[in-house]
Amino acid sequence: MEGVMNLLTVSKFDGVQAVKGTFQLGGVRMNVYMYLVDELLIDCGPSRLQKEISDFLSNERYTQIILTHHHEDHTGNALIVPGSIPIYIHPTGIPLCRDKPHLPLYRRVFWGSRKPFAPKGIEHRIKTKHHTFELLHTPGHAPDHLALLEQNQGWLFTGDLYVMSHPKSIFAFESIPDVIQSLHHVLRYDFDTVFCSHAGVLQNGRKRLEEKLHYLLSIQNQVLQKHSDGKPASVIQKELFPDRHVLNYFSLFENSSKHIITSILHKNGLQ
Ligand SMILES: [Zn+2]
Repeated sequence: MEGVMNLLTVSKFDGVQAVKGTFQLGGVRMNVYMYLVDELLIDCGPSRLQKEISDFLSNERYTQIILTHHHEDHTGNALIVPGSIPIYIHPTGIPLCRDKPHLPLYRRVFWGSRKPFAPKGIEHRIKTKHHTFELLHTPGHAPDHLALLEQNQGWLFTGDLYVMSHPKSIFAFESIPDVIQSLHHVLRYDFDTVFCSHAGVLQNGRKRLEEKLHYLLSIQNQVLQKHSDGKPASVIQKELFPDRHVLNYFSLFENSSKHIITSILHKNGLQ
């Protein structure tokens, strides 16, 4: 497609390879990361980068794959992987991967589509030769979302739990109260370095997750306060988030600040 630039760059952090896919469409640039550690591939990237990713993988040794969740930018290349390599996901994600996804056009254009595939369910932990990763079920962004904790190294692979500290809009399928709960969940453990699927490797990542938690708790309090003052959701939205972002329009408001307000009111039985 014209105006699309695809790029794959690989960097190393301790024993972890961070594989960064970048592409640009019009004025919008997107980064997505996969990680390869001790022959474990964490996510397999969007099909938009299929050629670049399959070139990369053909030179690497990997014996198992775990998906942080079923979204197309994390699972789009599941079908190019040899059938002998097991692909794992949280059990909630199995039916979501078996179905053909009904993606809105902008997501098909950004990431490329994803064909149905059949991963195996996994919970609790995944082991490699030198590491044990505890699997932390962390819904909020997606129902099947997993974070991977390597306690000896102080690593946390966070999929899309973090992405940014101060989101001003979210997707219709996301829930702020569930993200808050999942952030509380992971912050009970000891870790320092965060491996995010869109922001990359964050040393001192624990601080970034704490920042996000405090921000979301403050937003939640403000929403509930304004609601108890008698303000409707549309007014709360305008007061807290007066600005719109280009992605809001691109996504035809599948991504919008409105979903921050409604997910909070909904969880509290107020809508
Ligand atoms: Zn996602």
